[in-house]
Amino acid sequence: MDLLISHSCPSCGGPVEMQEADRLTSCVFCDVQNYMVNSGLLRYVLPDKIPEHITREKILYFPYLRFKGNMFTCQGLELDTKVLDTTHRGLETQLLPLSLGLKPQAMKVALVNSSHTGLFFRRKDTAVTVLQRASLVEDTISELNEQALNHRAFIGESVSCIYLPLYIENGMIYDGILNRKLGIAESWMTDGQSAVRYQHGWDPQFLATICPQCGASMQGEHDGLVMNCYNCDSCWAEKNGKFVPVPYTLLIPENDNSVQLPFWRISVETKGIRMQTVADFLRATNQPVVVNWEHEERDLEFLVPAMKLRPKIFLQLAKSATLSQLKFPLGERKLQKPLYPVTLPLKEAVQALKSIVAEATVNKKDVLPQLPNLIFEIKRTSLALLPFVDTGHDLVQEHSSLAVASSVVQFGRKL
Ligand SMILES: [Zn+2]
Ligand SMILES: [Zn+2]
Repeated sequence: MDLLISHSCPSCGGPVEMQEADRLTSCVFCDVQNYMVNSGLLRYVLPDKIPEHITREKILYFPYLRFKGNMFTCQGLELDTKVLDTTHRGLETQLLPLSLGLKPQAMKVALVNSSHTGLFFRRKDTAVTVLQRASLVEDTISELNEQALNHRAFIGESVSCIYLPLYIENGMIYDGILNRKLGIAESWMTDGQSAVRYQHGWDPQFLATICPQCGASMQGEHDGLVMNCYNCDSCWAEKNGKFVPVPYTLLIPENDNSVQLPFWRISVETKGIRMQTVADFLRATNQPVVVNWEHEERDLEFLVPAMKLRPKIFLQLAKSATLSQLKFPLGERKLQKPLYPVTLPLKEAVQALKSIVAEATVNKKDVLPQLPNLIFEIKRTSLALLPFVDTGHDLVQEHSSLAVASSVVQFGRKL
C-alpha cells in the first residue's frame, strides 16, 4: 500500500499531493515541476484530532519506522522472497503498539514542516537496526529455520519515519488520532530530554527539471528516478543533490507497438566465484547449455530490471535477461517513446546481484554455501532500454525469449 502525502509546492507554496514513491511534483497552481532529492529519511505525521485546549506546542510526536520493499533470504538451499510493508515502533514502550497497522494507509499523511510546532521524540536505534528487528519478527513468524543464512538482502526498500501524535492531560497520555487514553505518561515522555523541535534540515530539497547539458525542460514520470531530455537525448539521475548523466543505450524497436523497459547493465569484478565472462557465469551456475567461443569472449554483464516488481518476477527477469545478453544488439544513444520509468535505483539493483546468482544457479548445493564469500566490485554501469512488444496480455522482448505479464509491470509501480 502506498502512502498519500500532502505537502506544499517548493516553487509557489500551493498545496500538492503525492504518492510515497513519487519524485516529481507537478503543481497545478504554478505549473512548475520539481524533482525531490533523495536526502535519506523522509518524515511524515499522521493527522490528529487533538482538542483545541491542548496547545499545538505541547503535541508529542512518537516515531514509527516504515519499511517497504522486498526481502531476499538465502537460507540453506532455499531462496525465499518476501514483500515487506510494515511499520515498527521506533522506541520501546508498553503504551503503544509494535506497529501502526493499517493507520498510515487509511489517512493522508503530511510531510513534517514548520507548522508542526510540537516535540518530536528521537529514536535511539538507527533505521538499519530497526529494519533488522522487523525482519526478525518476520523470521519468527515463518517456521523455525536452523539452516545457515547464506545471504540476505533488502531490495527497493524505502525507509521513512511516520510520527503518531500524542498528548498529555492530567498525567495521562492520549493517542491524538482517536483521543483515546493510553495510560500514565512515562517519565521520559515528559522530561524534555528525549525530544526535539522541527528542524529545517528535515525538509526535502527539490531540483528544477532543466537539462544540465542543453537547458531544455526534461521529462519524466511522477515516480521515475531518471529524467529524460529529448532535446539532446540524455538521461539524468539525482546524486548528492545534483543531476548527473546516466549512460544508456536504447535498442531501436522493430515493432510500432513496443515499449522500452529499463534494465541496469552492471559489469563486475568478482572474488570468491569466478565470473569474468558469460562462459564463467554459465559454468558457475551450471546452466544446461553448451558453452561456446562467443560465451568465452564476452565479458559478463548483469542485466537487472530497473523497475520495482514482485520479488519472484524480479529475480526471474534478471536471471533471464542476464542469460540472454548475447542476443541483444548494441543499441544507440537515442531516446524514443514510450519509455517505462526507472523505478528501482541502481544501488538497489547492485544489492540484488547475489540473489540473482542464487536464482540462476541450477546446482544450488554447490553454489549457495559459497555466497558469503562472493564479493562484487562494480566496474561499469549503464541503462539498457530494451523494446518489449505489447501483446495486450504480455510484454515480449523483441530479440530474446524474455516475457513478462503487462499487469505485473503496471502493478509494480504500486510496490
Ligand atoms: Zn506551485
Ligand atoms: Zn538536454
